[in-house]
Amino acid sequence: MNYDVIIIGAGPGGIFSAYELMKKAPQLKVAVFEAGNTLDKRHCPIDGKNVKSCIKCKTCSIMNGFGGAGAFSDGKYNITNDFGGTLYQYIGKDKAIELMNYVDDINMSHGGEGTKMFTTAGSEFKKLCMQNKLHLLDASVRHLGTDINYIVLQNLFNEMKDHIDFFFNTPIRSIEVIDGGYRVNHDNGSCEAPKCIVSVGRSGSKWMEEVCKSLNIDTLSNRVDIGVRVELPAEIFSHLTDSLYESKIVYRTSKFEDAVRTFCMNPHGIVVNENTNGIVTVNGHSFEDPKMKTENTNFALLVAKHFSEPFKDSNGYGESIARLSNMLGGGVIVQRFGDLERGRRSNAKRLSEGMVRPTLDATPGDLSLVLPKRILDGIIEMIHALDKIAPGTANDDTLLYGVEVKFYNMEVKLDENLETNHKGLYIIGDGSGVTHSLSHASASGVFVADKIIEQL
Ligand SMILES: Cc1cc2nc3c(=O)[nH]c(=O)nc-3n(C[C@H](O)[C@H](O)[C@H](O)COP(=O)(O)OP(=O)(O)OC[C@H]3O[C@@H](n4cnc5c(N)ncnc54)[C@H](O)[C@@H]3O)c2cc1C
Repeated sequence: MNYDVIIIGAGPGGIFSAYELMKKAPQLKVAVFEAGNTLDKRHCPIDGKNVKSCIKCKTCSIMNGFGGAGAFSDGKYNITNDFGGTLYQYIGKDKAIELMNYVDDINMSHGGEGTKMFTTAGSEFKKLCMQNKLHLLDASVRHLGTDINYIVLQNLFNEMKDHIDFFFNTPIRSIEVIDGGYRVNHDNGSCEAPKCIVSVGRSGSKWMEEVCKSLNIDTLSNRVDIGVRVELPAEIFSHLTDSLYESKIVYRTSKFEDAVRTFCMNPHGIVVNENTNGIVTVNGHSFEDPKMKTENTNFALLVAKHFSEPFKDSNGYGESIARLSNMLGGGVIVQRFGDLERGRRSNAKRLSEGMVRPTLDATPGDLSLVLPKRILDGIIEMIHALDKIAPGTANDDTLLYGVEVKFYNMEVKLDENLETNHKGLYIIGDGSGVTHSLSHASASGVFVADKIIEQL
């Protein structure tokens, strides 16, 4: 065996596993294999001038590389069991919160100190939401911002790089079960260890499916979240974002009784493209640096689609809808809310006449040609419900970008140690389907590292 522990993927899950192993068991030989680049070499070619939209690079700098999908994220660490994953179902609610706080402490000691922790506890908005058929979820939110998040990641890497072997631009192609451990194969050879932690995130979802098939690990895939990203003047939500930063609000539609929820709120942020396996969807983030702040706030409105037997490919469903928007718009489509309600497409003229200046150069179009009616009706209803607590949300000029899709990796069958039916093979982070956030993914990394340390 070349190593004691092999980690596949250097997103938050993999990073916090590696960091915990280095701190608590420095005698262990650890290797991290990452499909993408080092943090400093991660550059998305879209510059708004020469390259205006996604050119589908070999590995996407936004999604792959040290820091994973979280590297250029808004760095919002939500400390809660209410959303962001179901880690608590495996390790218990108290343990999950303890580990999320532990991760927060590490972030604070690596450049995050001074950033603000927001909380919904005791907030007056809970009542306001309830009075308007909206439900505000409980959470504490540490907002690092894209810039501080980057610094924290760079500091963590600097501390680890002389103790842990990092292999960048080295996607793992397959995992084999061998006597006493695992062999991972890449384009230039292979590597072996008794313990293997797989943390390949959303971008590794397709590959993860293949691994599960080849190793007979049971999986379940029945959920995808589909919706739009809303962009409006920051003043409209400022009473909420100034005190809570991010408010996770759920609305139950009166028409279909579907739950529509706000997701990933970015005050004074920007809307960005996201590329998952060649399909361009929309996302958003914001900076902590006042100079980088925009005049707009953006957030997603998502509807969760749960499928039942015999349909198993929920991600395939989400991809087809995203592909449709890519087919019509060459990427992401943007539409004014007023145009959507009037049943007409937005065009460049109507957009330029609007009061909201888009922060993403997307193609003006018609989202009703892309999103299923039920989902679109739910989103329109939610926008009107939000208008009651944040008047102006339903203004004609509010921008909707589509589509935003939250692909949930299929849920991998794991035990309470996040271990597969193969002893010593752990699957963590978003790639396991157990987590879908920075804090949960990071906490799962620490948890598994501690389990391995107990055993080795
Ligand atoms: C624009 C954006 C903004 C976001 N904002 C937030 C936010 O504010 N708050 C929040 O909680 N979450 C946010 N998220 C989600 C968050 O980034 C993820 O939940 C988190 O990064 C998951 O961590 P992970 O380690 O499980 O996976 P990832 O971060 O996806 O990392 C997986 C890593 O594995 C690598 N990999 C994949 N396959 C292989 C392979 N075969 N071999 C080797 N390496 C491989 C990938 O290159 C990647 O670097 C955001 C995501 C995006 C894209």
